[in-house]
Amino acid sequence: MTNTPPANGATLRATDAQHHLHPFTDTASLNAKGARVITKAKGVYLWDSEGERLIDGMSGLWCVNMGYGRQELVDAANRQMEALPYYNTFFQTTNEPAVHLAQAIAEITPGDLNHVFFAGSGSEAIDTVIRMVRHYWTLNGQPDRKILIARDNAYHGSTIAGASLGGMSGMHKQAAPLLPDIHRISQPYWYGEGRDMSEHDFGIACARELEDKILELGPDNVAAFIGEPVQGAGGVIVPPASYWPEIQRICNKYGILLASDEVICGFGRTGSWFGCETLGFQPDIISMAKGLSSGYLPISAVAVGERIASTLINKCGDFNHGFTYSGHPVAAAVALENIRLLRDERVIEYVANTIGPYFQSRVRERLGDHPLCGHIEGVGLLAGIALVKDKASGTLFESGVDVGTVCRDHCFNNGLVMRACGSRMVFCPPLVISRAEVDEMVEKARACFDLTY
Ligand code: PLP
Repeated sequence: MTNTPPANGATLRATDAQHHLHPFTDTASLNAKGARVITKAKGVYLWDSEGERLIDGMSGLWCVNMGYGRQELVDAANRQMEALPYYNTFFQTTNEPAVHLAQAIAEITPGDLNHVFFAGSGSEAIDTVIRMVRHYWTLNGQPDRKILIARDNAYHGSTIAGASLGGMSGMHKQAAPLLPDIHRISQPYWYGEGRDMSEHDFGIACARELEDKILELGPDNVAAFIGEPVQGAGGVIVPPASYWPEIQRICNKYGILLASDEVICGFGRTGSWFGCETLGFQPDIISMAKGLSSGYLPISAVAVGERIASTLINKCGDFNHGFTYSGHPVAAAVALENIRLLRDERVIEYVANTIGPYFQSRVRERLGDHPLCGHIEGVGLLAGIALVKDKASGTLFESGVDVGTVCRDHCFNNGLVMRACGSRMVFCPPLVISRAEVDEMVEKARACFDLTY
């Protein structure tokens, strides 16, 4: 890759400021300095319009699992563009990539999740989950089972349904009124909220909140519980090992559907195809997106087991739900090729046995003793680092203190993409990252922690 800067960075920034409203961005402050123009990428590296190179510790937005510049994915898109760029899957038609992709997803999902519904984004997949589980209960003669239980500080997307289901207070304020019949329990964030007990006991206590909530609401009113196996946008929060098995037990006890939002955790991120396998539970329904196509094209899916599928197939008639891009042939072809690459190149095994353990140990070795670093948690190629204002006592920064943003900006200005979730710094690098690249990423992070301290 050459580093020749395109001449038009400044012009693009000016036009961007004039016309482009960015997601999750304070536009006024962005426009004051201008957006950084990313022009090309290869492997785990990005280049901007000034020719500066950055190592991408976030896989774009938690999605470029196979890394950038994979010609196989480009070729799959080109071939399908030429053969059939678009046709819908609504009205008695299907297409070859969508068929094969549904089969491939059925093969890699755990348990009997053999039926797949396609959508375009993670948020659309979440809307699909909500509609499917509510309708499932209506079709089974229990129309009062409308309530979904989710968790504080969860992220489930940005549509009105996703924002309502998620537990991000900043989003709730701007989405009001929220969707009704959604309730929440605590997040299983041991370091932040449970250090007065053992991790095991805290995990059980958090899960038991679900049982209390179900009993408070009445089991016959609850449709499903939903959670990310590891919270991603909440700051990479890995629940205690006791948590998910207890959640599963409680869902089984009350017959409540268990939904795993695998938009980040799917496709190898935690060292298994799906995060629920790593964390030890079997959901009835899985939402997936991002790593499904390594972010090369927008596509998402919802996989369901026989319990839900047989109801939808045999009792529903028309399921009045779907999107123009459900089963989009080009996106499906890219996702299919992406799954082939993950499988043929044994990427899941690489994360589980080689690069995941290496990454976890290097992050701890190089950042663990830093005065800003309070606690590191992670699994596979996900890590979250709690920044603390007092290392000896592990006192966290109060919410509203912008230390995360300061650290993130130092990273961004020094050739590293890390994300700040409040005062937690997170890593989510491409799964194909090498040991040398892990070392480079972690050394840069250390230097930026020094600048922040
Ligand atoms: N669910 C989870 C767990 C996510 O992390 C995200 C996005 O980050 C979504 C849903 C929403 O996905 P999208 O941004 O593609 O709508």
